[in-house]
Amino acid sequence: GDRGPEKEIPFAKPGSLTRVFAVASGKGGVGKSSVTVNLAAAMAVSGLKVGVLDADIYGHSIPRMLGVSDRPTKVEDMIMPPVAHDIKVISVGMFKPPGNTPVVWRGPMLDRALHQFLADVYWGDLDVLLMDLPPGTGDIAISVAQRMPGAEILVVTTPQQAAAEVAERAGSIATQTHQQIAGVIENMAWLPCPHCDERIAVFGEGGGQSVADGLTRTLGSRVPLLGQVPIDLRLREGGDNGKPLVLTDPDSPAATELRRIAEGL
Ligand code: ADP
Repeated sequence: GDRGPEKEIPFAKPGSLTRVFAVASGKGGVGKSSVTVNLAAAMAVSGLKVGVLDADIYGHSIPRMLGVSDRPTKVEDMIMPPVAHDIKVISVGMFKPPGNTPVVWRGPMLDRALHQFLADVYWGDLDVLLMDLPPGTGDIAISVAQRMPGAEILVVTTPQQAAAEVAERAGSIATQTHQQIAGVIENMAWLPCPHCDERIAVFGEGGGQSVADGLTRTLGSRVPLLGQVPIDLRLREGGDNGKPLVLTDPDSPAATELRRIAEGL
């Protein structure tokens, strides 16, 4: 149909003061969404105005992880996002028909949906917008790059070499899209032994550093390893019941590392 001219995306305007991070990973299940919500919560606690856009069409687990069950409301032609822990949250999952129907949007529809989430949602004056991308190098990552060229990429990986290789591929699309990579976060870096000081390398070692080194070579500019977040059962529990670990147990090793990463961004 005739939609008229597209609304402008406020974050993409020249001079926008909002920092936009696109959180990417090579494959699913590495903790991309968990890292996103904990970084968001840490930033919100420190007084920043934060929004999270869950663009992970296959996973869209952000609302559960932040304890959001409200749907967005419509005020005139704007979509008002629900707020949880002082974070404005929009997820593709909020626009699906009820039930657990999978989203089967394809490229052009995804691009339109992304534009709507960016332009029609009342985000207000955000300091930071975190976008949780689907894993891999799909259509959404390309749309984000085209619509928000200033978005900086955060790559999440596990220490596993196989995971690191796909993560590096996901990050290296930044060379084609001319985006900046803010850095690499290694998640599930180790399991602290419950009985001694030892670190158990459940998923091996070195993945985060090797992604950072590989991307540094590909991009020709330094991509830092921003931090290593250990495995913490409470981080998983917090994700399941909507309370990010950085809020419930800010001094735990995993939360301390996530807060440090958030501060450094
Ligand atoms: P992704 O977004 O990459 O698919 P998720 O954030 O959904 O990954 O994480 C996958 C699962 O692993 C979730 O159940 C989550 O709670 C758990 N998880 C993620 N990071 C950690 C961690 N550091 N310690 C313990 N569990 C974690």
